[in-house]
Amino acid sequence: MSTVAVIGGGATGLGVAWDLLLRGVGVVVIEKDEIAGGTSGRFHGLLHSGARYAVTDPVAARGCAEENAILRTIAPGAIAGVGGVFLGKESDSPEFGERWLAACESAGIAVKPAQLAAVRAEIPGLASDLAAAYRVQDAVLEGFRLLEMLVRAIQRLGGEVFERTRACGLVTEAGEVRGLTVESGGERRAIGCDAVVNAAGPWAGEVGGSWGGELTVRPSRGTLVIFANRHFSRVVNRLAPPGNGDIFVPHGRVLIFGTTDTGQESPEPPAPLREEVVELIRIGQEIFPALARWRVIRAFNGVRPLYQRGEMWRSSRELSRDFVVFEHSTAGGPKGAFSVIGGKWTTFRLIGEKVGDLVAGYLGVDRPSASRVVRIDPLPPKPSGGSSPIACECEGVTSAEVEGVDGSVTELRLRSWFAMGPCQGTFCAHRVLGMRDGAEGELTGLRAEREKGILPAAWGDNARMLSLQRSVRFQSLGEPWDG
Ligand SMILES: Cc1cc2nc3c(=O)[nH]c(=O)nc-3n(C[C@H](O)[C@H](O)[C@H](O)COP(=O)(O)OP(=O)(O)OC[C@H]3O[C@@H](n4cnc5c(N)ncnc54)[C@H](O)[C@@H]3O)c2cc1C
Repeated sequence: MSTVAVIGGGATGLGVAWDLLLRGVGVVVIEKDEIAGGTSGRFHGLLHSGARYAVTDPVAARGCAEENAILRTIAPGAIAGVGGVFLGKESDSPEFGERWLAACESAGIAVKPAQLAAVRAEIPGLASDLAAAYRVQDAVLEGFRLLEMLVRAIQRLGGEVFERTRACGLVTEAGEVRGLTVESGGERRAIGCDAVVNAAGPWAGEVGGSWGGELTVRPSRGTLVIFANRHFSRVVNRLAPPGNGDIFVPHGRVLIFGTTDTGQESPEPPAPLREEVVELIRIGQEIFPALARWRVIRAFNGVRPLYQRGEMWRSSRELSRDFVVFEHSTAGGPKGAFSVIGGKWTTFRLIGEKVGDLVAGYLGVDRPSASRVVRIDPLPPKPSGGSSPIACECEGVTSAEVEGVDGSVTELRLRSWFAMGPCQGTFCAHRVLGMRDGAEGELTGLRAEREKGILPAAWGDNARMLSLQRSVRFQSLGEPWDG
């Protein structure tokens, strides 16, 4: 059996690994941090209907529309079919609305006109000067859950997933890939394989830049704001060309609003900036006038791995949300080395299928892709806490759940969801981390990470709440004062 090493434990890498496994190809996934440590754990949470890109990016729009329908069937355990609306204002150009309707129709995206009164009844707090409303098939994509479902499905079929393991370089023999050098815990080793797929997202240029051919990735930062309450249960989009602050996604008990789009050199997400949050809040008030008074939990950002074709571009908004796949041997690189860049979370399965076609063809495997029909099992229900005491009140996490996770504090947070609720770990972090060895360093790291997202939104009531959190931590719980 052939084996493929896939670099990157985000949506793209796991989608590629899943597609190849279903064709009977062995896979090893290599992730330098934790699964979901990259952009796939730092996104808006929207399963796009495709309507957002219908006018500006019809190929990506069609891909989203088709994948939206497929994912609802194969991964219902990670999708909340809340539906979405596009809202136009009296001041918006009616010409764009007409173009948008025509573009949705030609991309096969279902759009239905809606009565404004009915939409107002479902979504409280809307601006009084709305002029148009349309319903679309937007849904909420539970990204962390779907990645965990994929990891379990991959392992069940015999695939291997190595976290905290960095891919360092290709091992080649007579111009063909024979392995991948990886580094983990300070030790280097080689993994034997017949092909390597670089699915390293914003880092794809760093990973595959020397494999042959020009791999131009344009990292583009998007900032998002999390509000403390869900506020409503539909995805709300602005009926306008893609821009800043045009999508609200109700996610679990919170509301995620964004985003921005700023090109940067580094693939790493920097701390969100106050001016980005201020700008988002300003724009959001055009749809929800009271939004400046909604409590912000924190801001965060992710980095889009956009692919740049040629030199003609002015801003990252102009770069396609579609994806490209490279076979490096076509540009003088070794045979069996592939890179994939771009796409959306919504289209991760489609990307997996296309990469799978190319890699399977190279390996001489003729079994077709099955990922559009094979169901990805939902996660097993959370074990009942029984008499185990509650460790995190906001998210109802029990001590037994915390003890059941063997991994870093980030893995613990993502698997149990502790410190993700309104108190952001103010109270529960002591209790939860106190159950682990080396808790002091973990506590400092968690506090620093959380404050990175709270500080850019800390004015008015949010600043007062941050002061209260700090009083609890430094005065009541006795954490060392950090100035
Ligand atoms: C702000 C924002 C909002 C978004 N919202 C949406 C949305 O609502 N809906 C939607 O469909 N899409 C959305 N997207 C797009 C979507 O999130 C991305 O397209 C998708 O997550 C990219 O996944 P990926 O696997 O390619 O990259 P990543 O998730 O970044 O995965 C790449 C992985 O490779 C690992 N890696 C890097 N170098 C190495 C190495 N040397 N060795 C081993 N591992 C390595 C990284 O640690 C990382 O985990 C959004 C993007 C952003 C930035």
